[in-house]
Amino acid sequence: MKNEIRIAIDGPAAAGKSTIAKLVAEKLGYTYIDTGAMYRALTYKAIGAGIDLDKAAEVEALLPGTEIVLKAGADGQTVWLDGRDVSAEIRTDPVTNGVSAVSAHAGVRTYMVDAQRRMAEEGGVVMDGRDIGTAVLPDAELKVFMTASVEERARRRHAENLRRGFDSSLEQLAGEIALRDKKDSEREVSPLVQAEDAVLLDTTSLSINEAADAILELVREKVD
Ligand code: C5P
Repeated sequence: MKNEIRIAIDGPAAAGKSTIAKLVAEKLGYTYIDTGAMYRALTYKAIGAGIDLDKAAEVEALLPGTEIVLKAGADGQTVWLDGRDVSAEIRTDPVTNGVSAVSAHAGVRTYMVDAQRRMAEEGGVVMDGRDIGTAVLPDAELKVFMTASVEERARRRHAENLRRGFDSSLEQLAGEIALRDKKDSEREVSPLVQAEDAVLLDTTSLSINEAADAILELVREKVD
């Protein structure tokens, strides 16, 4: 077993994947890769170009002229689209509510999956998304499927919005999260599904540190 393994973390929206994956990567000295940010960046570009997000051909036509780069910064990962830092823009509501349409297109997925595989080639990565264990890194040494109840996920997002000073409605958030889960789970290409060999981690009643510790324990079992 190599020491620098590849860790795939998948699960539904707002289950705590990115916060926990980031922490695990930090503790291990690994690279954290937020694949959702790549789909978000393309969605942001498509919205800016006035494209109908449901039209595969129009969205896919953007790909050859698009450069999406994830960079490690002092405050975590930053996301660059065609040479511009769009880390804040990709977290806005229009992008969040449009991204499932963009990520459902087969050509978009092929492009992103290829790029993500190249990023993980060296090992020593924690990658989070929806299809990492099933499609991007089917032979990852450790796969975790992270879930939490819809109510808990909406509550966490609501608290985060309020902390950042954004308007927020708990009920609306729960509806949006449930809808995004549904679209991600029902799409034809690489739907959100737990890989057969993934460990299920329900974070509903776990703190961030408890969830990270649970994953670190699984890593220890793999590398020892
Ligand atoms: O992880 P995050 O919530 O930022 O992901 C945004 C969206 O990107 C998801 O709702 C999903 O539609 C898409 N996605 C995906 N495959 C991934 C990561 C994200 O389809 N590996």
